[in-house]
Amino acid sequence: MNNRILEPGAVLGVLGGGQLGAMFIAAARRMGYRGAVWDPDPEAPAHQTAVHSFTTPFSDPAGREQFANIVQATTLEWENVPAELCGWLEERCPMRPSSVVLRRLQDRIAQKQFLLSRQLPVSSFAIVESARQLVSAVNRLGFPAVCKTATSGYDGKGQWILRTPSDVKQLETILGQAGSGRRWIVEQFIAFARELSVLVVRNEGGEFRIYPVVENRHERGILRDTCVPASVDCGVAERAKELAMHAIAALEGIGVFCAEFFHTEDGNLLINEIAPRPHNSGHYTLDVCTVSQFEQQVRVTCGLPLGETRLLSPAVMVNLIGEEVRSVLSAEGSSALHSTSGAVLHLYGKQMIRPGRKMGHVTFTGSQKEMVTAAAQQFIKNLGRVD
Ligand code: AMP
Repeated sequence: MNNRILEPGAVLGVLGGGQLGAMFIAAARRMGYRGAVWDPDPEAPAHQTAVHSFTTPFSDPAGREQFANIVQATTLEWENVPAELCGWLEERCPMRPSSVVLRRLQDRIAQKQFLLSRQLPVSSFAIVESARQLVSAVNRLGFPAVCKTATSGYDGKGQWILRTPSDVKQLETILGQAGSGRRWIVEQFIAFARELSVLVVRNEGGEFRIYPVVENRHERGILRDTCVPASVDCGVAERAKELAMHAIAALEGIGVFCAEFFHTEDGNLLINEIAPRPHNSGHYTLDVCTVSQFEQQVRVTCGLPLGETRLLSPAVMVNLIGEEVRSVLSAEGSSALHSTSGAVLHLYGKQMIRPGRKMGHVTFTGSQKEMVTAAAQQFIKNLGRVD
């Protein structure tokens, strides 16, 4: 369906109600739009800020009729929503990104095959459709390797690193216990020098906006921090941007996307994965860019002109994971943070603290990258004492 410009007052739907959905709704509200959130979890943070809230399962036929009757355009904040639902919705209103793009990206195998078919650089991989195929996949790729569920994995969940034949034996048993129809992808483990990512926005007319290249550090599969700009030379940053734009153009993607890269010691860039939505590594845009990734999502969903992506200052975004959030909940911790110049706290309003759960983040900003990095690293060090 064609995207005419939706005027303020329109209702924008978002599938998924996590923190990304809540930040989308906040941007939409500021711009005069109303939000409708659909997430079967009534505790999902975005429900707190939405004007309309849907908590039925995504498969509920009455729920989809009601949702479609209310929204004038829809987007998503999580790739694991049913593509079939997106396909049904896009016959009724603009859906950003489209169901075709979502189908390609929500399955790791389909995504890798697509990128490979477009000559985009990815790590070597093998498809595993039963536990028995695991050994031959690892034999072909060699140790170490990483096995990932084809669908539904996130934050290191459904992911195993294989370093020895005994790791393979153990994983064979786990995969053997999974239900039928499950698929996995085994990838060569990349000994990267650093991880980079780039946010790309593309509208219906094929116009792009691209954000600076950022550097990410993960711990146990979860994003620990993001530093912007990345410490790479201009040539590498330009190549990452070009690869990201090439990938999104090949997908004919409309929306906000994040391309994640491995940058190897010998200077190669490999695309690890592409997310069809704003990304945790793009949260810094809320505090140090003229237009944030969430405002871009509103703009592209409404058919508005895309916004400027200028970086106003260096920044480091630090996630508050699980129990770490307690460090900013106490009077002492919270006032220490709020008296740190340039530190901006974002809490997601999640009731339950669980290990590995993203509870909030802090963006450290300032004119000197070294000072911002030092403040963020000191903060992380102190977090370690809480967990
Ligand atoms: P993913 O869910 O694919 O983004 O993986 C989460 C994190 O696990 C990545 O950001 C990397 O730190 C690590 N990882 C995933 N795949 C690989 C790989 N093939 N080689 C090395 N590290 C990986």
